[in-house]
Amino acid sequence: MQPKQRILNVPPYKPGKPIDEVKRELGLTEVIKLASNENPFGCSEQAKEAIRAQLDTLAIYPDGGSMQLRWELADFLGVKADQLIFGNGSDEVVQMITRAYLGEGTSTVMATPTFPQYKSNATIDGAEVIEVPLKDGVHDLDAMAAAIKADTRVVWVCNPNNPSGTINTEAELVAFLGKVSKDVMVVLDEAYYEYVVDAAYPQTVPMLAQYPNLIILRTFSKIYGLAALRVGYGVASEDMISTLNRVREPFNTSTLAQAAARASLADQEFVVRCRDLNRQGLKQVTDKFDEWGLSYYPSQANFVLVNVGIDSDEAFSKMLKQGIITRSGNALGFPGYLRITIGNEAQNDQMLQALANTVGVASNK
Ligand SMILES: *Cc1c(COP(=O)(O)O)cnc(C)c1O
Repeated sequence: MQPKQRILNVPPYKPGKPIDEVKRELGLTEVIKLASNENPFGCSEQAKEAIRAQLDTLAIYPDGGSMQLRWELADFLGVKADQLIFGNGSDEVVQMITRAYLGEGTSTVMATPTFPQYKSNATIDGAEVIEVPLKDGVHDLDAMAAAIKADTRVVWVCNPNNPSGTINTEAELVAFLGKVSKDVMVVLDEAYYEYVVDAAYPQTVPMLAQYPNLIILRTFSKIYGLAALRVGYGVASEDMISTLNRVREPFNTSTLAQAAARASLADQEFVVRCRDLNRQGLKQVTDKFDEWGLSYYPSQANFVLVNVGIDSDEAFSKMLKQGIITRSGNALGFPGYLRITIGNEAQNDQMLQALANTVGVASNK
């Protein structure tokens, strides 16, 4: 059978290695996964309660409009309910955007390296992908504005950027938005929004009033710790949301995901605790990198991209044999680097011990 030709250009997504597979392959009993930027502290207890409370409703289709979650999140963000769209993860909102706005005869501008889903979805939908290299690990917004062509429909800004963890400042973003035509959609992927502590980071929801071409993507998968349930969202003008709703699957978020997201949203103490613990963990890890002379990108997220000074795949395998799953920079466009998720204190200690063995420094432990 013959698939659409352009699908053959799309590499299948390579996920972080699952813990059980690594245990089986290497005969290890303890394995720590620091590969997919999941929350090492789990999720809010209230989210688990909320799921248990739904167990007798499983025969019924979910509320396709996610109405209760919609009202509560609109209230939380200070936007109108019709300015929100929910997805089976924010990945699905990325897909809705390319489906609705990109096709043959259009182009889309993004950074490289960045989150791979923009490129794969745009390619599947037949758009030309224009990639603008990062500058010092940060989106080069001037070059991205300059790369926009007459047929460009969508520009992607991942902030903080995955895999570098770096941010663009409010000043940079505002200057960029001033240069982009209001006919070009600007996607701000803020999957790690809740982790950011840098005061120069833009608060983008209030910008929506001034920039109707903006859409902000956030997720319950990262700091809220609900990655398994698949729920994320977009915030934009009512017009843009109504367009995206045309391509949304009717029951794209589950009852359990909606219930858990509502309970998680109500438990902001959990979010604050995780943000604080993540900053402590980042310091724990980068203090050692500094001590060992390993360079890394300054991260505002829950992961760090570190230069290990040897081949990434070799470093990945050496870490794996010691029970630590990381991400090889080779797959991320950063050869010589590993992307490592910040774990809890004990996990970070074990990761650092393994890294010391891997790069050949004394760990002082
Ligand atoms: C994890 C991540 C997402 C998507 O997460 P979902 O689980 O699909 O909500 C989106 N963008 C970036 C940059 C991410 O790292």
